[in-house]
Amino acid sequence: MSNCAVVGINWGDEGKGRMVDLLTADYDVVVRYQGGGNAGHTVINDYGKFALHLLPSGIFRPGVVNVLGNGVALDPENLWKEIEEVSSRGVKISPENLKISDRASLLLPWHRMLDELEEKRLGDRKYGSTKQGIAPFYSDKYQKKTVLAGELFYPAELREHLAELLEWKNLTIERVYGAEPFTMEGLEAWLDSCCEKIKPFICDTRAFLRDSVKDGKSILFEAQLGSLRDLDGGIYPFTTSTNTIAAFAPVGAGCPSADIDRVVGIVKAYSTCVGAGPFVCEMSGPEGEALREAGGEYGAKTGRPRRVGPLDLVATRYGVELQDADEIALTKLDVLSYMDRIPVCTAYKEGGRMIKDFPFPTLLESCRPVIEYLEGWKCDIAGVKSWDALPRQAREYVEYIEKAIGLPITYISTGPERDSVIFRKEARR
Ligand code: GDP
Repeated sequence: MSNCAVVGINWGDEGKGRMVDLLTADYDVVVRYQGGGNAGHTVINDYGKFALHLLPSGIFRPGVVNVLGNGVALDPENLWKEIEEVSSRGVKISPENLKISDRASLLLPWHRMLDELEEKRLGDRKYGSTKQGIAPFYSDKYQKKTVLAGELFYPAELREHLAELLEWKNLTIERVYGAEPFTMEGLEAWLDSCCEKIKPFICDTRAFLRDSVKDGKSILFEAQLGSLRDLDGGIYPFTTSTNTIAAFAPVGAGCPSADIDRVVGIVKAYSTCVGAGPFVCEMSGPEGEALREAGGEYGAKTGRPRRVGPLDLVATRYGVELQDADEIALTKLDVLSYMDRIPVCTAYKEGGRMIKDFPFPTLLESCRPVIEYLEGWKCDIAGVKSWDALPRQAREYVEYIEKAIGLPITYISTGPERDSVIFRKEARR
């Protein structure tokens, strides 16, 4: 059976959750391989509307096994809250359909606090973190200063390990930030509450995935954020703290032997970007406000207004390259229905030269967008389910994008609901 990665091509919030929810119908296992509770994957289905933060978006499909791989930032407190909340709305979650890697590192109680303290220290120069502790967590993971989920099964050794980390981390908390130190009692309370609750889900997911591959099961890898937030290829330092690209999926999932047969890149019909950092094609004023309102562009996790702009073909081509995408799912096409003409950013201008290749991050601040316009369709296409039912101008917009990025658009989403989608199998090469 084939394995697939569903990844964001741009800055995140492209509608990955919505596409994974749709595509899981064809897969046996769904794995989140990076990132943490800072995600906000919006899914609307028979159970209602959800913003999933850590749970894989396959959790709604009976028979699908969902895995949180070793690459995720496992926040026991938020994960347990999310499990309780989603379960309370009729979704069955048990160790049968949710498995947490024993090698996932735990986001410790001080990581969120350190995220907040650092953003406060930075003031105007802040990164625009979601303050979920993700950057401090990954720094500590790579310094080998956190604990693995599997350590919860070895309480004596775990307490010794935590006491060592506590002593080390309090040096930073007290001496660098002048904040209140953490105590072992506080950590005990954390262990007794949320950590105990998630314990039944923790297992050797590497072995589970290895056997799944051997048994011919199909795996869907679900990314968080998009190419331009990739730690290595993105707009550093305004990236996330992990690798969002498909090539990292087998590593972060904990099944390095799995081949990815198909990479579906998610592109929104226009651009959005949350937080600080360069965003060349940003639209401001009433034009930007109108697009933000039409698309409901407010963060699923934080409620922050997202920055908006036209589709950026320079960034999108680069994102496609980083992901090595095979095909594209274009989302939120319906949002553009109000526009008389559709703006597209086709190139950047930098110091008198025209740039078509995504530049080194430092140069982005001095880049200006080159905008071209396509004809708008000016009629509501929300919920349209067939290619032929789309107005000519909307079809031309889709074909224009396909040509500009050199990939087929095999899905077009025309609404947030599971079935508001156009399947274009004929576009697949
Ligand atoms: P993700 O993190 O990539 O899953 O994206 P988000 O959930 O943060 O943002 C996508 C938003 O767009 C959510 O509110 C979705 O419900 C919504 N959405 C997804 N696809 C469509 C679509 O085709 N049309 C409209 N109008 N909304 C959509």
